[in-house]
Amino acid sequence: MTETSDSKNLEPIRLKGIGVSPGVVVAHVYLLKPDQWHVLKRELKPDEIEHEICRFEDALIETRRQIKTIQKNLETRTAIGDASILDAHLMVLDDRTLIEEVVNGIRENLLNAEFVVKTATERYAAVLESVEDDYLRERVTDIRDVARRIVHSLSGKDDETLGDIDGEYVLIAQDLAPSLTASLRKEQVLGIATDHGSATSHTAVMARAMEIPAIVGLRDVSNQIHTGDLIAMDGNRGIFIIRPTESDLEEYGRLAETRRSISQGLTALHDKPAETRDGHRILLSANSEGPDELDAVLQYGAEGIGLFRTEYMFLSHGSSMSEEEQTKIYTHVAQRLSPSPVIIRTQDIGGDKFLADNQSRKEANPFLGCRSIRLSLLYPEHFKRQLRAILRASASKNVKIMYPMISGAKEVLQANALLDESKEELRKRGIPFDENLDVGIMVEIPSAALTADIIAKHVDFFSIGTNDLVQYSLAVDRVNERVAYLYEPMHPAVLKLMKYTIDAGHSAGIWVGICGELAADPLATPLLVGLGLDELSVAPAAVPIVKDVIRALDQTRAAELANAAMGCKSAGEVLGLCRELTSEVAPELLDIL
Ligand code: PEP
Ligand code: MG
Repeated sequence: MTETSDSKNLEPIRLKGIGVSPGVVVAHVYLLKPDQWHVLKRELKPDEIEHEICRFEDALIETRRQIKTIQKNLETRTAIGDASILDAHLMVLDDRTLIEEVVNGIRENLLNAEFVVKTATERYAAVLESVEDDYLRERVTDIRDVARRIVHSLSGKDDETLGDIDGEYVLIAQDLAPSLTASLRKEQVLGIATDHGSATSHTAVMARAMEIPAIVGLRDVSNQIHTGDLIAMDGNRGIFIIRPTESDLEEYGRLAETRRSISQGLTALHDKPAETRDGHRILLSANSEGPDELDAVLQYGAEGIGLFRTEYMFLSHGSSMSEEEQTKIYTHVAQRLSPSPVIIRTQDIGGDKFLADNQSRKEANPFLGCRSIRLSLLYPEHFKRQLRAILRASASKNVKIMYPMISGAKEVLQANALLDESKEELRKRGIPFDENLDVGIMVEIPSAALTADIIAKHVDFFSIGTNDLVQYSLAVDRVNERVAYLYEPMHPAVLKLMKYTIDAGHSAGIWVGICGELAADPLATPLLVGLGLDELSVAPAAVPIVKDVIRALDQTRAAELANAAMGCKSAGEVLGLCRELTSEVAPELLDIL
């Protein structure tokens, strides 16, 4: 962090965003400007080289197409009759030396195209910049511009990493690409604040998983702040203060202390069951985004993993991960948690979680498009590779499979048929797996909730994914901060869908859990317990506080609350009931919620 803002005498600015990952932070910021050019370095396996070179060649073609389009637009829609100024850009694309350097770099150093393009360009640029010639110096800008376009064609916006920034800071950005979020280091990034995003965007989910306090949806914080500015933030309430006053600093110091002492108190609950005062037992598990979080899952006393998201693994290792590589990861997770259950969800790519080569980013409505199980069913060989790997990990007898984004029974039957084929393939190879492995689905589309009675006949459990269920039932894009005020997990419509799912599951004799972010909100715990959910799966760090509320509750009181909530006319009314009960059973928590 070298830049500093000359703003000591300016007034504080107080902003309110969506608090998505708890924690109080007072620190200096690092502003990630949108035009900054960071790329992710990824090592390739030898059998990925040819594919990587093809990607690079495709990106050259795409970049040429883009530049030609810009040229045409400049000529037809503006007063610029001659757009030959962009010919220099096209010449860069024809520069054999640069192209060969990139191809050789991929082949010889086994590195991804984005990284090689950037390093080759910077080397070129450094040589040209050192020459006393205006024409050549101007070409540096062209080369950088074209290279940036190539990198964008290669990987859209997912091209950033922060490895080269020193020190600790709160990271400020318009938005964070999934691969960038996945590459953050907790020791360095003390907090995150973004213009865009919502409570269930990937940034929020990852921040919570990494226990980095975060506020999203701050609209234009990135325009109001400079690298080096001091800020104070409360990731629970969504309050963000640029240039806090002395009294702000005192207040935030006190708040941090209260949180610390509450969470210290909660550590005593580690080995205690998640059981209500009247003896109703809930399975309290953790969500996990990757094997790095297993320590946290165990440390906070979760009783298993209720959602292991596999897409982040593909985001960081590439979509072509082999069966062996995947088996290694799933087996490691299963064995580390054994004998506690681990629910591995098949890939949920798409929506706001894109792979570099995923076509769904080009769809007009990616959340409604070829995402998740739809992609898996479209590429059965790829899907079966993942299923075989999960099956192999199930040899330790504590693994369950879960399909995401199921819209109806037909998809379950299709997925189960591929699962049967995968089992048969393993049997033929003589590879052991759990023949009785349970299969479940995420209920996160209203059509699945409303046909839960039909689907229940084909699965062993349901896990309600409120993050998507809310967006699909209320028609509210879960990552669009402009409609975040409509994103209400306690909306009566959502509660009705949840209740229908829970009752249908129970009538069919299967258990029903929840793994959406609502499960981690301690204010919602009485409602969820009251609705009759059998399992709550939450971010690891939320396990103690949710357990605390469960242990302070009576199931009968919670059921009464849920009954009353079903008659409420608005989310606000439901929240009011939840607050009332929480203030009765766990008043100390209201100070920090
Ligand atoms: C959900 O939709 O609630 C969920 C847990 O899945 P994801 O957030 O990964 O879409
Ligand atoms: Mg989902």
